[in-house]
Amino acid sequence: MVEAVGPGVKRPQVGDHVSLESHIVCHACPACRTGNYHVCLNTQILGVDRDGGFAEYALVPAENAWVNPKDLPFEVAAILEPFGNAVHTVYAGSGVSGKSVLITGAGPIGLMAAMVARASGAGPILVSDPNPYRLAFARPYADRLVNPLEEDLLEVVRRVTGSGVEVLLEFSGNEAAIHQGLMASSPGGRRGFWGSLPTPSALTSPVSSSCGGSPPSASPGGGSGRPGCRAPPWSTRGGWTLRPSSPTASP
Ligand SMILES: [Zn+2]
Repeated sequence: MVEAVGPGVKRPQVGDHVSLESHIVCHACPACRTGNYHVCLNTQILGVDRDGGFAEYALVPAENAWVNPKDLPFEVAAILEPFGNAVHTVYAGSGVSGKSVLITGAGPIGLMAAMVARASGAGPILVSDPNPYRLAFARPYADRLVNPLEEDLLEVVRRVTGSGVEVLLEFSGNEAAIHQGLMASSPGGRRGFWGSLPTPSALTSPVSSSCGGSPPSASPGGGSGRPGCRAPPWSTRGGWTLRPSSPTASP
């Protein structure tokens, strides 16, 4: 909630409920000047380079505060930023509608991506993770869950898709998963990387550490910020389950 604003700030206003865009950007580098704010060369990340949303008070540029409807629950508002990462990664390029998708990594953002891919008409959707507890959360959104410690992921992908997945969405940052994901991709398929590579790594990171290195989506409006990484406004209009849940509650 906004406690105070600086001189000249028209939006947000004191009392507004907001979610924070985590990238504080320079507006001057080549990336910013071409609209790619999410890969700004001088980015400061809230909670990493300066106080973030877990601080009792945080000072942020007005453009980083996205005004939410007053009836949006705080527990949902608090995770719109990572949800935006999932939306951005799924929708980058030509999207996922009607396409086979493999999601490697069923952490929070990978699970959100599975939900977005399902809602966007992707299929079949495969989700891979060695942690059965996390994997179970993906059950409502996936056509096939794969524990790579128990099954051969490539064999499962071949069996389900015939020739490989059309879209790989990587959220684990695990070298073995990245390698398997690339091997499971069909020729000409799209690959979106979100997971951060371990250091040192045998792989050279082909991507930015933010927003999967993909181009920004146009601002859908309704916010006070800039185009970049974010969830679209319909993310606050129902049809989404960003509330806490448990894998045992899944159908
Ligand atoms: Zn910049």
